[in-house]
Amino acid sequence: MDDETFRAWAHRAADWSVDYLEGVGERPVRAQVAPGEIFRQLPETPPAAGEPMERIFSDLDRVVMPGMTHWQHPRFFAYFPANASPPSLVAEFVTAALAAQCMLWQTSPAATELETRVMDWLRQMIGLPEAFSGVIQDSASGATLAALLTARERALGFTGNATGLAGGPALRVYASQQVHSSVDKAVRIAGIGDANLVRIPVTGPLHGMDPDALDAAIRADREAGRVPAAIVACLGGTGIGACDPIEAVAAVAQRHGVFLHVDAAWAGSAMICPEFRDLMRGAELADSLVFNPHKWLFTHFDCSAHFVRDPKALTDTLGLRPAYLRTLGRDGVVDYNEWSIPLGRRFRALKLWFVIRSYGVETLREMIRAHVAWARELAGIIDADPDFELTSAPVLSLFSFRYAPAGAGTGAGAGTGAGADDLDALNARLLERINDDGRTYLTQTRHGDRFVLRFQVGQTTTTRADVMTAWDAIREIAAGLRAG
Ligand SMILES: *Cc1c(COP(=O)(O)O)cnc(C)c1O
Repeated sequence: MDDETFRAWAHRAADWSVDYLEGVGERPVRAQVAPGEIFRQLPETPPAAGEPMERIFSDLDRVVMPGMTHWQHPRFFAYFPANASPPSLVAEFVTAALAAQCMLWQTSPAATELETRVMDWLRQMIGLPEAFSGVIQDSASGATLAALLTARERALGFTGNATGLAGGPALRVYASQQVHSSVDKAVRIAGIGDANLVRIPVTGPLHGMDPDALDAAIRADREAGRVPAAIVACLGGTGIGACDPIEAVAAVAQRHGVFLHVDAAWAGSAMICPEFRDLMRGAELADSLVFNPHKWLFTHFDCSAHFVRDPKALTDTLGLRPAYLRTLGRDGVVDYNEWSIPLGRRFRALKLWFVIRSYGVETLREMIRAHVAWARELAGIIDADPDFELTSAPVLSLFSFRYAPAGAGTGAGAGTGAGADDLDALNARLLERINDDGRTYLTQTRHGDRFVLRFQVGQTTTTRADVMTAWDAIREIAAGLRAG
């Protein structure tokens, strides 16, 4: 592709992007295709000769777009958000143009130094003390794995990497049932094993782990000759937004010298609003904390902010300096690959820099506050509706609910028996119809052994009217379901 053709297509892509985002609210939120429908339209063999861009681009609209679920849709209320924004998109374009590998300081000093600076901005924005250093990881999963590997090594006096884990004592990790599956995965990859992930029971309205039960579990393990390595606390669990009492958990961690990692993947972005920071009280005592600006801080995936109290423990765990990666004559510079699982790194700090500068912290706060306010408002409306039941109160902008019309199952509060199964089935059917309808997109979880619908507000362009339109759609579809 020559420069002039490239210029023309870069402009076309920019126009296409703006048009797409302007009109995305008119499309069904979740892709309305059957499995295999896109695959079958793609040629079985690659083209031997190059094809004109015009044809490739028109296939984007014809073949690919019908199979897209629109995460930037203003009525996307499923899962957690993966929100984005125009300044972030522009920065991603520039990042793609630079196509730099930012693994070492030397491979792009600006990328490293900008990362150090914007991570410190983020640290200040969420109110963590200066003792924390930040690094951008590819995902919260990657950050949690890096944290658990560090915890493992710390518990083993940094001998695990050298000698392997065979024949060693059982290493134990403590978490509630509410943590994300990335914790389970990290426990496996770190060689700790499913059997050593100790589930601590939860209590209270925030479904947080019971610190006394945690303390007892650690003591019992010590007495049995096992090695307590890490506690993973969740700040905004994925199911219903569970929050562990971090201050009390941190006190137990300190008492026993156990590494504490806080997974705030989704909720962490809201900590830029001081009024929500009650939820993170005690996080300043953790060893490690992760949150995803690529979820709720208007920054494209991938951008996971990982803060650690002791970067040396992290680099002693993950840092390798083979001869071909040495930066000669530059001791003391930061090489961020030593903080991460992968060697290669995109220039991810740039989009965060664009976002924070373009909006300013105060506007970012207002956007998140609005999401929280609308979620609370809708939760109140649902709570007051006799045909619906609020099954978990809003934690920030996430709540869960279900359809429980009088006469269906055993009514509100049903938790057991055949009636509960009927309500589960009814709500599963309702969810399917809502997502086939296309006006909005919701997903489910199990809570209190019931099938419940989750609702989270976090999309960049969502308005209060979008939230209420989604509610209208839910009510209308539910009423139709009852009628037959
Ligand atoms: C989304 C989520 C994760 C996983 O995030 P990735 O960045 O996709 O790995 C982990 N923990 C929680 C609480 C989450 O909500």
